[in-house]
Amino acid sequence: MDEILSDDGFTVERHDADWPDAPAVVVRWSSGRPGKTIQFAGHLDTVHLTFVPPRVESGLLYGSGASDMKGGTAAAVEALRVLRDLNALQAGDVLFTAFDLHEAPWGDGAQITALTRDGIVGDGVLIPEYHMQSLPVGGRGLAIMEVTINRDGEPMHEVVGGIEQPNVIAAGVELVQKFLQLDKELAEISDPMIGRESAFVGQIHSGEIFNQSPTELTLSGTRRWIPGTKIEFVEQQYRSIINEIAQTDGIQIEDNLMVVVDAFELDQSHPLIDKFQSVCQAVMGKPLPVGPKPFADDGNRISTIAGVPAITHGPDAKGAHTLEESVPVKELQRVALVYALTAMVFCPD
Ligand SMILES: [Zn+2]
Repeated sequence: MDEILSDDGFTVERHDADWPDAPAVVVRWSSGRPGKTIQFAGHLDTVHLTFVPPRVESGLLYGSGASDMKGGTAAAVEALRVLRDLNALQAGDVLFTAFDLHEAPWGDGAQITALTRDGIVGDGVLIPEYHMQSLPVGGRGLAIMEVTINRDGEPMHEVVGGIEQPNVIAAGVELVQKFLQLDKELAEISDPMIGRESAFVGQIHSGEIFNQSPTELTLSGTRRWIPGTKIEFVEQQYRSIINEIAQTDGIQIEDNLMVVVDAFELDQSHPLIDKFQSVCQAVMGKPLPVGPKPFADDGNRISTIAGVPAITHGPDAKGAHTLEESVPVKELQRVALVYALTAMVFCPD
């Protein structure tokens, strides 16, 4: 990415952004006249599947990252080139950022988080993920809960004392019941478009054989919340449940609530939205209907940290997180056009 942009005459800055193994790629291109900054933000990492080399066949680009999201990122680069080569930006700047550590579980969003924290952020952001049917205006936050309940001692046959041991399964059942009760309460907190809050247990494991007292139980699940609920509140609520179970005699709890991403809400009164929709009208013939964000992406992170609007809009690509990624080349051209035009109408204002 650095090489492509440098060879093309752009000045490329590399920012560690807490990940010196693969510093982020940053290009600032200015019209030379004061205005707003639009940011194109793409992640460079792909999911860790067998590498599929790139090829173009019958108008489709195939290969690792074609849809998620090197295709969309390449379209953003093309928009940057066009804006420069045609001197099409009356005022303002384009900030192009490409970064690593997006795809879980290998990445945790740390690099875009650090970039944004360090002030490398625009006044409005476009994220070229593979979504184009709607304008995502909201999405739920997500945290993964992982709990291990232990007792002292060794696994023990039920009839030689096992039955008298502190019962990790009983403690686990109590914990599950508390999460089920919490989920019932959370169901009341909902948004007509983006869904309801939830606490969900998806895995629970304990025991080796039917007549032995186990020493360990593990449980994992998710907690999702809607905009308006604070992460600190989610954490406190979770913590008080864990603390109640931790009172049980003879058992210990180790746990982790890993916040993957905060809830997302797009400020629909922000000028970026109208400008973007006018571009959709011009390019696609109509503005996009508003809808939920089907996946959590870097837009959640950028808007939480910097308080700027982030629109997820990319090519109609298929096969993300599979070996069959593909994207129509025509779609990449369309996205490049939408990005360049959005910069042209947003930045000078
Ligand atoms: Zn992606």
